[in-house]
Amino acid sequence: MDAPYLHPDVETLPRQERRRSQAAAFARQLAAVAASSPFYQRKFAAVGIHPSRLPLERLTDLPFTTKDELKADQEVHAPWGEFLAAPLTACVRLHQTSATTGRPLLILESRRDWQDLSRIYARALYAMGVRSTDMVLPAFSFGPWVGFWGGVFAIQELGALFFPSGGMSTEQRIDTLLSYPITVLGCTPSYGLHLAEAAAKRGIDLATRSRLRLSWHTGEPGASIPTTRALLARRLGTRVFDLPGLTEIAPWGFSCAAESGQVHLHEDVIYAEVLDVESERPVGPGERGELILTHLRREAMPFIRYRTRDLVEVARRPCPCGRTFLSFQGGVLGRLDDLKKIRGVLISPAHIEEVVRGAPAVSEFEIVLRRLQGLDDILVRLEAPEQALREGLLTELAANLRLRLGLRVTVEAAPSGSLRRWDHKARRLRDERQEVPF
Ligand SMILES: [Zn+2]
Repeated sequence: MDAPYLHPDVETLPRQERRRSQAAAFARQLAAVAASSPFYQRKFAAVGIHPSRLPLERLTDLPFTTKDELKADQEVHAPWGEFLAAPLTACVRLHQTSATTGRPLLILESRRDWQDLSRIYARALYAMGVRSTDMVLPAFSFGPWVGFWGGVFAIQELGALFFPSGGMSTEQRIDTLLSYPITVLGCTPSYGLHLAEAAAKRGIDLATRSRLRLSWHTGEPGASIPTTRALLARRLGTRVFDLPGLTEIAPWGFSCAAESGQVHLHEDVIYAEVLDVESERPVGPGERGELILTHLRREAMPFIRYRTRDLVEVARRPCPCGRTFLSFQGGVLGRLDDLKKIRGVLISPAHIEEVVRGAPAVSEFEIVLRRLQGLDDILVRLEAPEQALREGLLTELAANLRLRLGLRVTVEAAPSGSLRRWDHKARRLRDERQEVPF
């Protein structure tokens, strides 16, 4: 048996010591931010706080930072914004958030920022079971979205062999997986299923024909949704892991080889608050709230009390792996911005995905929210083989969705190949309602 942790001192640090080292890191970070970021200087002055000696216990005295604020700052002070706290010459990497509307946010990293990111990413892959003997293929475009870029550096840090597939088509990636002893795959959950489906169309079962044994997924929460995780495991023949993150901040979390359904937070570099969505008070174990992150070391673009809009649940019990990091049960449970009110009931697209992915015959689906005769209606359109449809798949899914959501859902078949396939950041929900009662 090899060592279970890449960074044992950090990963198993007792809670009290963790708190002490976070407090020291926070003091250093706040002093640096107050000295170098005009954006934060203005924010702190606006609430009458001089933050240079503010202890971690009083973090809540500081205002939140939001993505809209950062976007506005970059618009006024184009292109980088005044939250850039280091000289441009000290920056070594640039990434963009995936913007669905408006301009994307530009994110810069200093050399130390990128080293930190690579280090925690390597820790995460190691915790999943990636070793120096693995050959690793991230199925990713290597464009401006940070996605699997950090993974490349992490793979090298672990001494594993990196197989680049940036410009490859799905067909070429399938051929590559059949031709080389690639044991680890990184991709979004949607792309993992798409890859397996494309292979199946050629009569190839990736689970048996490739050498894959492990896959990790980021960009969407699917690898923490039990039915999606089971489907990925079956189609790819892998043990499936989740690596939640935000382009802005970091790949902040990971699920581990204990497969407890929890994701762990890299608390040596990131401090987290989980706040009740209504009252904004901290929630306890077993409770849900919005994840607010403060990066304890970020040089080029600091993040103090950043509202992630991600919904998480603080784990009730420690993970059997022995890590002492703060952990969240079920990963990211939903985006607060994606929550929709339908006939008075709050639903998340993840709830629907959980049910639909429970039927392996479904190859792709979309969710349409519409208004029929003045009433909200949920329509799920899906692609599935004729035989599954004849055997009552639509009725069965409608019944399961009703049970899960407490709402009647219309389920329809869509022509084969008509629904969009996603290679990253799937957006399967379309809201066609004119006025949204929220
Ligand atoms: Zn664990």
